[in-house]
Amino acid sequence: MAKKKEETCAFCGRPGSSSEVLIPSGIQPGVYLCAECADQIHQLLADYRHQVGSGQSTGSLAGDTGLDLAKLPKPKEICDFLDQYVIGQDSAKRYLSVAVYNHYKRLAQEKGGEGELADVDIEKSNIILVGPTGTGKTLLAKTIARMLDVPFTIVDATVLTQAGYVGEDIESLLTRLLQVADYDVAKAQRGIVFIDEIDKIARKGDNPSITRDVSGEGVQQGLLKLLEGSVVNVPPQGGRKHPEQKMIPVDTKDILFICGGAFDGIERKIAQRLNTHVVGYSTDAERRKIDRDNYLAYVAPQDLKSFGLIPEIIGRLPILTHLDPLDRDALRRVLTEPKNAITRQYRKLFAMDGVELTFTPDALDMIVDKAIEYKLGARGLRAIVETVMIDAMYELPSAKAKNFEVTGDYVVDKLQKSHFELNKGAVKEA
Ligand code: ADP
Repeated sequence: MAKKKEETCAFCGRPGSSSEVLIPSGIQPGVYLCAECADQIHQLLADYRHQVGSGQSTGSLAGDTGLDLAKLPKPKEICDFLDQYVIGQDSAKRYLSVAVYNHYKRLAQEKGGEGELADVDIEKSNIILVGPTGTGKTLLAKTIARMLDVPFTIVDATVLTQAGYVGEDIESLLTRLLQVADYDVAKAQRGIVFIDEIDKIARKGDNPSITRDVSGEGVQQGLLKLLEGSVVNVPPQGGRKHPEQKMIPVDTKDILFICGGAFDGIERKIAQRLNTHVVGYSTDAERRKIDRDNYLAYVAPQDLKSFGLIPEIIGRLPILTHLDPLDRDALRRVLTEPKNAITRQYRKLFAMDGVELTFTPDALDMIVDKAIEYKLGARGLRAIVETVMIDAMYELPSAKAKNFEVTGDYVVDKLQKSHFELNKGAVKEA
């Protein structure tokens, strides 16, 4: 017996199972409007009536992208905003701010231009961030999305495989974007997708044990289609679990893709290139200018190619920038300076119980020391603070104290009894 097709919204294609309720058409059997579209239409109509009332109406509900370049934050403002949440990474911040601003300029220009530049088409400016894990790649992308108030999603390139193989199809990258945009296709089409671990889909090279590179070059080819801008059919519920679901066409030409990856070992390729290039051409003085502690700062498209990204993908990620490793000073700042720094979050939690929490400078130094000792980087700071604070979090809400001070000794004491110390040997060996 044929399986019954799931009912969907005639406006956005959302399946009944993802909607609060589907409202049936009074005259056309099998035609529905979902509650979410009904809400949006209600809002659109309210805005329209308001505009008519104030004489600003264009007479149409469609087509207005709501993009007013004058109101968009300028690169400097974007960068200032990023500074509030992300420590260091000046180069990446600068590149991202400009790229995002240009991206939205590009969207604005599509409404038409004037004069000799009218036919000039500003090309899409997808971005690739290269930097060690835990240095702020995801945080940067998230912060940008928070500022611009556009749908934003993080997807992991490692789950993707070439169509027809076990794993997620490339199109499912956009399912999540559709979901966060509440299935508003127009909104999703202007969103930002952060593709993490892009380095993991690098071509595996001539490894003879790999007969078919289903998670490498094949995925890159598939991704290319998305990056360059095309209409792809997206499964609204993702995966292949719902073969009967109706696909939603999504145009990716205005979606900004930000890719991130650690590219472990790329420094060697950069060093090789720089050294072979410099020898024989330049003076010793020029060669010395290279900061040998941070080869990543010199990353260039050809290094990504040596690493195993195909040239077409590299061409579609024209903005290439790097993130610096976080040194002791940067880690110390991460603890206290960002707007939602971990120590601020704890101060807020304690304040809600009427307790004023302070961390002494030596407590902060100790937390940083331990993050470095355990080789956990910025990501480890939170885990360490959580461990240090757990007893106080448990006891203080029932106690009478109005103040609580975390000292260096307190940090050492709490960590000594924790799994961190127990695992220390293992971490060192790794
Ligand atoms: P990745 O580079 O691997 O994407 P993340 O952005 O996910 O790293 O960073 C992990 C966590 O570490 C963040 O949530 C944040 O708390 C902290 N962190 C990392 N880098 C920075 C930074 N430059 N400034 C502030 N916090 C940071």
